Amino acid sequence: MSTPKNLPSPAGGYRGRFAPSPTGPLHAGSLVAALGSWLDARKNEGKWLLRIEDLDTPRCIPEVTQQIQAQLLACGLSWDEEIIYQSQRQKAYQDALKRFNELKCLYSCTCSRQTIATALAKLSIESPRNQEMVYPGTCRPASLMSNPWDTVQDLKKAWRIALPQNCLIEFKDLALGPQSQNLNAEVGDFVLRRSDGLFTYQLAVVVDDAEQGITRIVRGQDLLSNTARQIYLQDVLGYQKPEYLHLPLVLDAHGEKLSKQTLATQINTQDDKHSLIELRKAGMHLGLKNLPDGENVSIAEWLLAATHAWKS
Ligand code: GLU
Ligand code: ZN
Repeated sequence: MSTPKNLPSPAGGYRGRFAPSPTGPLHAGSLVAALGSWLDARKNEGKWLLRIEDLDTPRCIPEVTQQIQAQLLACGLSWDEEIIYQSQRQKAYQDALKRFNELKCLYSCTCSRQTIATALAKLSIESPRNQEMVYPGTCRPASLMSNPWDTVQDLKKAWRIALPQNCLIEFKDLALGPQSQNLNAEVGDFVLRRSDGLFTYQLAVVVDDAEQGITRIVRGQDLLSNTARQIYLQDVLGYQKPEYLHLPLVLDAHGEKLSKQTLATQINTQDDKHSLIELRKAGMHLGLKNLPDGENVSIAEWLLAATHAWKS
């Protein structure tokens, strides 16, 4: 464990965030995450920060960043403090990678998906469908050392974290109760920087949540399975641990999660009337009851009532 860096102190009170990736405008599902995290922050008299997760630049669409901000503001979901853009934070991620290297828990990997699949097949390990393959440790050196930093900078290789044995992570989700994941069995040594030079979501989100002093992470349940990895990275870097609350997902008519990949329809915020309709749908999904339902309710009134109705 390393010593925590100088991070914003949680004694400063509740700090929450909404962290969309600008791969498409907000849809009903992302509005639920935005509204839930906003209500939780307001109910706790805390700050709500907006972070644009535009790390995977080839998949991010610059105009969408503006669009998301406009959609949030149309729904009355205003944020505190300056927006953070992950595309501008390479140095912070680089420093974190350096730290993992110093701690001798970083190694390079040249496996393709196919190599990993073949290695798993040899071990008779089947990967669950639609899930990432558990990395079998093919490239893991017998003894771990810190690598010369110029090799780590080499963009042709991926860099993985070396997990300790029996890496069982347990945590409590404020909505779902006790959770646990055995990272060795369910994930394997995971990638912190990809072979194309991009830092991974797991690394960036942990660095940013810590640097922004986030005390509670409220987000969709689709991200639940990432939480144990993030907690492990927080452990190694000596960061304060945020609380977690994962919100129910919005499913489409086929029972699939709404996502930008499935081209979910964007929310309609053309005027206050339509924005309120979207907020009401999101509020219902979050189980909020007894909210003002007349025609003449303003967004501000509705949000205030929703904040009172929010439980946690
Ligand atoms: N950027 C991620 C997404 O849009 C969310 C990250 C998070 O809330 O931890 O799915
Ligand atoms: Zn490998």
